[in-house]
Amino acid sequence: MKGAVFEGKHKIIIKEDLIKPSIEEDEVLIKTKKVAICGTDVGSYETGGPYFPGIVLGHEFSGEIVEVGEKVKKLKVGTRVTVNPQIPCNECYYCLHDQENMCKIKNYALGTTENGAMREYLNVKAERVHVLPDDISFEQAALVEPISVALYAVKESEFQIGQTAAVIGAGPIGLFVIQVLKAAGAAKIFVLEPVEFKQKKALEFGANKVFLPNAWKKISRKTNNIGPDHVYDCVGLSSTFTNSLNLIKKGGKITLIGMHANSLDISNILSMTTNNITVRGVYGYNQEIFKIAINLLEQGKILVDPLITKNIKLEEVPDIFEKLSKPEHDELKVIVELD
Ligand SMILES: [Zn+2]
Ligand SMILES: [Zn+2]
Repeated sequence: MKGAVFEGKHKIIIKEDLIKPSIEEDEVLIKTKKVAICGTDVGSYETGGPYFPGIVLGHEFSGEIVEVGEKVKKLKVGTRVTVNPQIPCNECYYCLHDQENMCKIKNYALGTTENGAMREYLNVKAERVHVLPDDISFEQAALVEPISVALYAVKESEFQIGQTAAVIGAGPIGLFVIQVLKAAGAAKIFVLEPVEFKQKKALEFGANKVFLPNAWKKISRKTNNIGPDHVYDCVGLSSTFTNSLNLIKKGGKITLIGMHANSLDISNILSMTTNNITVRGVYGYNQEIFKIAINLLEQGKILVDPLITKNIKLEEVPDIFEKLSKPEHDELKVIVELD
């Protein structure tokens, strides 16, 4: 069986001799259809981690069930599915409070620490599987995972109908955050993004106006010199956090989604205190969010097709990662086709 294996910094190998997995009684076997490449996949390719070397990549994917374990009652062979790739312990305080993204074994997931979906078949626990409605394609379903990331971020930020928001960074997650905000009834959505084709996508998906990253004064003027109620930082650098603090309304909420830098150098940090700013980090999602993401996709409230800029075969994975690791690339979402 073929698969794309992450071997460390700038090293992905297509292996032909992977063993086709067998299933446990609470698992299903999935024939993989489509897998999307994620920014964090590329981040690990560039730096060598945090993904575990030797794992098969792929945590955003769809497929068809081809075998069902003895104890699995609700799923059948032939069912079209996507999978929540997080691997919770289902026993700890957080798991018991529907916060599997904060599980004590946090960060364990298919395609990051365990073998993921860039292979012909994979076995998963039945409880991780989400059935697809008929009118969601396998390609669209591969993006339920990043939609869930955006959905969880907006939900946790306690965004309310009629509020204003600024989104920093119009990569795939930023573009999903814009769409979720629109679906959630945002009065105005401002986007800060330097790259022209991403600015255009942001407008296409419902941003009211796009700006260059340091244009916080212009956004302030657009909001009667008050600032937006919410800022969503989908980048995660010192410069974007500084921008967030400059932008945000007094008493407003900054939500940190992007994870580019591990330490930040912030010059206006006291404004957090003096302006009563709430800063909230978000990571992952839970099963409920995954269901809502599928539902919004089914209703057409979240569009994914305009984000897919390339479809490739498994053999092309090493080359595309090399391309995606260069800053000047012009891809948003790349889909690996295994069918
Ligand atoms: Zn991802
Ligand atoms: Zn747990």
